[in-house]
Amino acid sequence: MNTTSSNPLNSLRVSSLKGIGEKTEKLFRKVRVDNLNQLLHYYPRAYDVFEEPVEVTEARAGARQAVAVTVTAPPVVNRKGRVPVTVLNCRGIGRTLEAVWYNMPYLTGVLKKGARLVLRGNVIKKGSRLVLEHPQVFTKEEYEQNRAAIQPVYGLTAGLSNKTVSKAVRQVLDRYVMQEYLPSAVLEEYGLAGRDEAVTAIHFPKDEETLRKARRRLVFDEFLLFRLGLFRLKSGEDASVNHYPMGKTSLTGKLLDSLPYKLTGAQKKTWQEIEADMTGSKTMKRLVQGDVGSGKTILAFLAMVLAFSNGVQAAMMAPTEVLARQHAGSFAKLMSDAGIKDINCALLLGSTPAKVKKEIYKGLEDGSIHAVIGTHALFQEKAVYKKLGLVITDEQHRFGVAQRSVLSEKGDIPHSMVMSATPIPRTLALILYGDMDMSVLDEMPANRIPVKNAVVGPEYRKTAYKFIEKQVAAGHQAYVICPMVEPNEEFPVENVTDYSKALRKVFPKEISVDVLHGQMPSADKNEIMQKFADGQTDVLVATTVVEVGLDVSNATVILIENADRFGLAQLHQLRGRVGRGKDQSYCIFIKSDSEGETPERLSIIESSNDGFAIAREDLKIRGQGDLFGLRQSGESGFLLADPLQDGQILLDASKAAEDILEKDPSLILPEHEMLSFVLKEQAETDNLEL
Ligand code: ADP
Ligand code: MG
Repeated sequence: MNTTSSNPLNSLRVSSLKGIGEKTEKLFRKVRVDNLNQLLHYYPRAYDVFEEPVEVTEARAGARQAVAVTVTAPPVVNRKGRVPVTVLNCRGIGRTLEAVWYNMPYLTGVLKKGARLVLRGNVIKKGSRLVLEHPQVFTKEEYEQNRAAIQPVYGLTAGLSNKTVSKAVRQVLDRYVMQEYLPSAVLEEYGLAGRDEAVTAIHFPKDEETLRKARRRLVFDEFLLFRLGLFRLKSGEDASVNHYPMGKTSLTGKLLDSLPYKLTGAQKKTWQEIEADMTGSKTMKRLVQGDVGSGKTILAFLAMVLAFSNGVQAAMMAPTEVLARQHAGSFAKLMSDAGIKDINCALLLGSTPAKVKKEIYKGLEDGSIHAVIGTHALFQEKAVYKKLGLVITDEQHRFGVAQRSVLSEKGDIPHSMVMSATPIPRTLALILYGDMDMSVLDEMPANRIPVKNAVVGPEYRKTAYKFIEKQVAAGHQAYVICPMVEPNEEFPVENVTDYSKALRKVFPKEISVDVLHGQMPSADKNEIMQKFADGQTDVLVATTVVEVGLDVSNATVILIENADRFGLAQLHQLRGRVGRGKDQSYCIFIKSDSEGETPERLSIIESSNDGFAIAREDLKIRGQGDLFGLRQSGESGFLLADPLQDGQILLDASKAAEDILEKDPSLILPEHEMLSFVLKEQAETDNLEL
């Protein structure tokens, strides 16, 4: 059987498409799309439904609208300022609407007298005038075409327009048919769309129903492949014995006594469970779930101390370098406060200089380093441990199979502890994490002051800025969150690039504003996060990259733009960045649109600070399918799937995987040939980069 011919799309570069040259190829590479297969997996981040156009007379401030206009007089280009401003006066009965574009003087070629156009953008009020801000321009016919279907929204990188991406995807879909790899019995049993149909519809859905069906199929695939991969992994594991049996130690009591606080009841109970696991007869496999701020970190540190006193190495992995640094810092401080002097704990990051890394590797191998805190660098090939008996993963949201296989290979089945703020029901946790025991931290430390919330419209911004200014003057710091990195004409939401520039003008010079987003080189990201953590930056304008774990207790305000565009869980994580210290904190959610009702999601988050309750409400809402919100970047390790929202699909796919393996454990039957192939391919491309 010759299966060397892998998916042909893998070996075709994006530049093999018509109209894509070197320059565009480079832009695609920036979003990690090199070949045509990756291009097809570059799923839209959101979908757009074009509104029915209104007449000038019906234009109203505070909303995004599509306005049908007939050009009666050519536009005026004002070149006095920094950028040329193009202004077109659109007249309606009893009302004039001013359409304004920045830095687009060539529009005069399109805005010709007599042209019938649709202008789509935000309508705002400037004094007594109504202004349509930097709208998209369509001919009437173009606009009608767009209205006929749901439009995908991709663009996140400057220069790579939505049009370019969708044209490229369209070409691939027109040229190639996606091969089906699921056995027809599975397709039938679970009522799944065919692969080609699904991939086509996720990019260009005819209607909501098709989109929903396409999504279900692709999510099913992600879970199925995950499950199949996991089953294969598990066969080699034996956790029924404790490979690192331990005895209790007085050092943990010493650490507890020296803390400036008492553990909550939930923390105490969980610590007892962890201690019982590690000193018991089986290998610990424990998932610790606790809302943001519930105090998970100290439990990890206690376990590390227990491991140390039993002569066993411990490794703690965090999802970002800044968080790892922060953990290492607090570990060192707590040990010193407790007078525990002998633990040699290293910090190992991707960005650690090669020379230092080498020394750390040496220490891990000869056992002179007892504990190590870091990022995925902890588990790179070169890291060899003398006696790794405890592996802790903090803020674990990724369920990558490859990652887990590497982890379990580093030690002879070490005790493992996973800490997460995502409240996953037990049935799903069993599938996603394998057979783990669960502890839930359902109690907050008593001294917390609840964050004060406000959901407001864009017209409140000025007041919010003044408020931030005051907080900064009082010595505090603030986060501002925008959904996008760069401006995107097709998707008019706030972006950190423009927003930070604007904020620098709004604030007095003394207030320092910095920018952070996921597309920056990681060295820059670290530096900026570190500066903020050290209090050198007052206001950090960021995308959702800040959502995980970061603990800057001096930050007391977080302002979230286009709050309605985020999922509830994500809003809660973001809010968790403040309210971590002794001072009153505030979360300001700005709606995209001041008119209309407040979306249900925002009312929920405004009235509750309880992450688990919010997650339950979230599921209820999303159960009905919120297809049009911004898709959260694949932080779970899946592209489309969301283990919480897609719980039922996860159960289905898991069942399908079990059935397949029961019938054909090595996947050698002809109907599983393609599947086996895809699985192998995935194992090879799954990478550990976060
Ligand atoms: P998370 O569960 O989000 O990881 P952390 O472990 O970062 O929370 O804890 C958040 C803050 O609360 C830290 O500054 C920590 O020192 C503090 N903390 C932890 N447990 C308690 C407690 N029982 N009482 C008071 N403060 C606590
Ligand atoms: Mg944490």
